[in-house]
Amino acid sequence: MNNRQLFLQHVAQTSPAPIGLEIVKAEGIYMWDVAGQRYIDAISGFSVMNIGHGHPAVKAAINKQVEDYMHLLVYGEIIESPQVQYAKRLSSLLPASLDCVYFTNSGAEAAEGAMKLAKRVTGRTQIIAFNNAYHGSTQGALSIMGGEYWRNAYRPLLPDVWHVDFNTDEALKSITEKTACVVAEVVQAEAGAKPAQQAWLTALRQRCTDTGTLLVFDEIQTGFGRTGSLWAFEQYGVVPDILLLGKALGGGLPLGAFIASHAHMQQLTFNPVLGHISTFAGHPVCCAAGLAAFEELIKFANINLQFPGHSSLQAANCKLETVIEKELQFRSLLHHPAIKAIHGRGLLLAVEFESAELCQRICHAAVKAGVVTDWFLFAPNCLRIAPPLIISAEEISAVCAVLLQTINQVVEA
Ligand code: PLP
Repeated sequence: MNNRQLFLQHVAQTSPAPIGLEIVKAEGIYMWDVAGQRYIDAISGFSVMNIGHGHPAVKAAINKQVEDYMHLLVYGEIIESPQVQYAKRLSSLLPASLDCVYFTNSGAEAAEGAMKLAKRVTGRTQIIAFNNAYHGSTQGALSIMGGEYWRNAYRPLLPDVWHVDFNTDEALKSITEKTACVVAEVVQAEAGAKPAQQAWLTALRQRCTDTGTLLVFDEIQTGFGRTGSLWAFEQYGVVPDILLLGKALGGGLPLGAFIASHAHMQQLTFNPVLGHISTFAGHPVCCAAGLAAFEELIKFANINLQFPGHSSLQAANCKLETVIEKELQFRSLLHHPAIKAIHGRGLLLAVEFESAELCQRICHAAVKAGVVTDWFLFAPNCLRIAPPLIISAEEISAVCAVLLQTINQVVEA
């Protein structure tokens, strides 16, 4: 059997049609397959490799940490410098109310931890989430996923979870004194990069405050500069009670986090003690890699903001100009009669086609032509553009040229 056959036989598959490229090397925005063909990674391994593949600073940090120590003891028992340094650094670039980081192994686990924390802090059970939202695949995270097609086969799921429509008044009205938390993305990634409306997000914050409900923002996909500011919520001047991070957080290694105030987080320490535990969460090698990637991102994006002592953010100061310029370049180059619209913010863009079938044919053809892309879970008619943020103007032109050529081929076929 060749490697592809072994992959299909022995590696559990949940995709009925995996991309199945055999990549042997990745650097910057590029990946090379076993036959030497070069591909542009136009989706950053789903918004993970924000500073590109194989960054030397990240590799050096990993190697150093492997030399120093790897796993020592279950999360939170021993002072591990990479965790401490990374938590401190993240806090320095977050509002003062988000000063305590619980590291997890994945984004889904961050969502799980946040829901548990909200139940403890409020003493309530009801959770409100949004249609077309994705927060992970574990049972709790699946319970708040906004699509019955995905939830139905795995019932019973978490009780007292309610789904409402994003950006609607009805959603605001559904939040009451019974609600423990509302879990929302600031830009609904898998809905096809759909941003919250400013007035609605402000009203959502207010409604949560008025009812004593915790507001949880899932920035697992939108964080780390992806939407044109370090955190997408900065663009709105709306601060959550709990922030979920993942994906780019680990600089290419598995790492997630839920972040809240120290006072809230203490609810997990007593009655019962060990309210949330995990053997490998916040692994020192992942934290060292994540911190190194974070420092590189900050240098690259020229971020010099510090938020200690601030409870709200000044939206205008938080723009990552370089990411916004790149968004504009994509928007100006991607014109074709088959393209209906381009949605999204920064380098989380969804190129809309008439049908899912057309979009998927274009995606497959693009991969063959050397640009790795994909569609969105809840918007299969939209092609994903989420390259590493370091992509250059020439490389953007190259991606757009391949995509336009591919669209022509597919449309004319
Ligand atoms: N939340 C969002 C917005 C995501 O996009 C994802 C993953 O795609 C998750 C949560 C789950 O993260 P993970 O796959 O690390 O569990």
